[in-house]
Amino acid sequence: MRWMFLAIAILPAGSAQEAAFARCLASIRASPQGQRLAADTWERHARGLQPDPRVIAQQQAQPEFTLPIWDYIAVMVDDERIADGQRLMVEHRATLEAIERRYRVDPAVVVAIWGIESNFGRGTGSFEVLRSLATLSCHGRRQTYFRREFLAALRAVQKGEIDGDRFLGSWAGAFGQVQFMPGSYEWLAVDFDGDGRRDILHNEGDALASAANYLRRRGWRPGAPWGVEVRLPEGFNPRGESRRVRRTVAAWAARRLRRVDGSRLVRADLPSTTTAGLHLPAGPKGPAFLVLDNFTAIYRYNASEAYTLAIAHLADRLRGGGPLATPWPTDDLGLSRAERRELQRLLAALGHDVAPSGVLTPQTVAAVKVEQQRLGHEVTGRPGQRLLKALRDR
Ligand code: CA
Repeated sequence: MRWMFLAIAILPAGSAQEAAFARCLASIRASPQGQRLAADTWERHARGLQPDPRVIAQQQAQPEFTLPIWDYIAVMVDDERIADGQRLMVEHRATLEAIERRYRVDPAVVVAIWGIESNFGRGTGSFEVLRSLATLSCHGRRQTYFRREFLAALRAVQKGEIDGDRFLGSWAGAFGQVQFMPGSYEWLAVDFDGDGRRDILHNEGDALASAANYLRRRGWRPGAPWGVEVRLPEGFNPRGESRRVRRTVAAWAARRLRRVDGSRLVRADLPSTTTAGLHLPAGPKGPAFLVLDNFTAIYRYNASEAYTLAIAHLADRLRGGGPLATPWPTDDLGLSRAERRELQRLLAALGHDVAPSGVLTPQTVAAVKVEQQRLGHEVTGRPGQRLLKALRDR
């Protein structure tokens, strides 16, 4: 919004900005990798691009609050996504088994990535990838990184792998059902159905096999678990421990860590000589996990510990596992997407301009603040079970 205002307010500078953008694109074209692109590719898909103000707004947006881990897990690993994923694992069983034979990656993890990256292919993004990447190549931080991605995207279009006129994805340039960046696509996407195209936008087999190939090439260990939920002994000092500080399972057992059901740590799936790090996503009073190489492989897919835990836990749930055994250290747990939609309907009934999308839009956050104020709750804009219950009971 603020960007739009500036663009209108300083209209004469607009053409100067346009010229600066054109110069930026020309410098990308003049770079060694840029020069290798065919003239026709550049003319058709790059030269006339304009910066996308929506992308700049996204890039500059400061989140009002960071979701606590229990909110993130609640919305990412909700009953709806578990049920959808389990149904799709049955529907795509033959493909998933073939992918597992070829890449030896746990199909539940692959399906979890599919479910969290694009809600199983239903939401792959509505931004023009080439325009987004051109914008990020010339605005803001990490321009060098985004130029490489922009050029990789153009090469994929030039090769005929992706239709440059219908190339949609996230504002940051990730695309397809498993949301690859173009550089990862170029390096690690695969043509699983053998039709000559690596079509991670429209072909489930290509998308899921590409995610499996990515994990395999980034350190996945076939047959090994990602980790295990554990129980810390009374008085355990977690200082200095993290998922990166790896100790043998024998060493953890010696420090009296148990599985969360109280049973011993060492078992066939967790040999005593395997090394694992201690991951405490909400501190020592919340759920605790020993995590192994496959947790790191998932982390390399998307460098966020919350994301990694969501994928790992969703995969367990898809295989029929139960919820986390240790409660999150909060008295106000997060909402599933169904609960968010219910909350949004309650807010709308109170006269707020909020649609039941399940997405935490700025309008939702604003309405939450108004109701928190009215109810005498702490005004955070973050909706949890406490607000939902209060609005249900009105
Ligand atoms: Ca294909």
